[in-house]
Amino acid sequence: MAIQKVMVIGAGQMGSGIAQVCAQAGFEVKLNDINQEFLDRGVSVITKNLTRDVEKGRKTEEEKTAILERITMSLNLNDAADVDIVIEAAVENMEIKQSIFKQLDEIAPAHAILATNTSSLPITELAAVTKRPAQVIGMHYMNPVPVMKLVEIIRGLATSDEVYQSVEEMTRQLDKTPVEVNDFPGFVSNRILMPMINEAIYTLYEGVASVEAIDDVMKLGMNHPMGPLTLADFIGLDTCLYIMEILHDGLGDSKYRPCPLLRKYVAAGWLGKKSGRGFYVYE
Ligand code: NAD
Repeated sequence: MAIQKVMVIGAGQMGSGIAQVCAQAGFEVKLNDINQEFLDRGVSVITKNLTRDVEKGRKTEEEKTAILERITMSLNLNDAADVDIVIEAAVENMEIKQSIFKQLDEIAPAHAILATNTSSLPITELAAVTKRPAQVIGMHYMNPVPVMKLVEIIRGLATSDEVYQSVEEMTRQLDKTPVEVNDFPGFVSNRILMPMINEAIYTLYEGVASVEAIDDVMKLGMNHPMGPLTLADFIGLDTCLYIMEILHDGLGDSKYRPCPLLRKYVAAGWLGKKSGRGFYVYE
């Protein structure tokens, strides 16, 4: 099936990036959120990104205008009535996502694919609340979406080959690289990344080295572009804790227990860059 019309649910960090790359690739995009303020914020982030691209000579002013014209704002899920795919990027909460998927299942056309950008929640469980589990799939983008090449494509237990192929093809049209993954806690990306970040936090907790030293070892010694504690601050410490809990519960192995220091920071509201303080302080 050729995908043309896309709806993105959630105009936050990820949703706005997904809307941008879809519009850049020529898709008609409806960007949905629960209030106008969030939509305006999402579109202003997209506009800023495109303006930077124009300044750097990567796009023309005309291209920027055309991309923005392909994005329309939506405050109503009923706008999904004529789309070919919905990519859900609302908050990481199973109840909220299941409620969105139940509604979309009633509203979206019979052929439409329902995709989720969840970082950690089981695709199979989301698919189970719909009457079209064969058309439900994970489409896990990396942050920042306009920059990062990878999209992890996650097959739920019932996802059909045809739906997988359509989503894989769309991913290539977005100039991204699809990687096929099965539905297991954390998929591949967070199954490997989050325990590394958690271990970096244990290393700090046990006094092995300072924040800066831990980041320097991984940057200079392992050639990581960013140290794990800086990366944790960028992702959000609440998100890191949440994903560790999903790994711990889902795989039932104590090696995934979240570090007590991570719990303490989250309890203190030290959530990383977004709250101004995490392992580092942000002005
Ligand atoms: P965010 O908080 O920046 O944005 C979430 C947006 O969803 C908000 O604008 C919120 O108003 C909106 N929203 C909430 N409930 C909604 C509803 N019922 N209908 C429509 N919109 C609703 O979060 P984010 O970082 O963009 O994350 C979104 C999703 O992407 C999550 O599932 C997250 O796990 C996943 N993800 C995040 C990252 C990351 O690095 N931040 C990376 C990959 C995947």
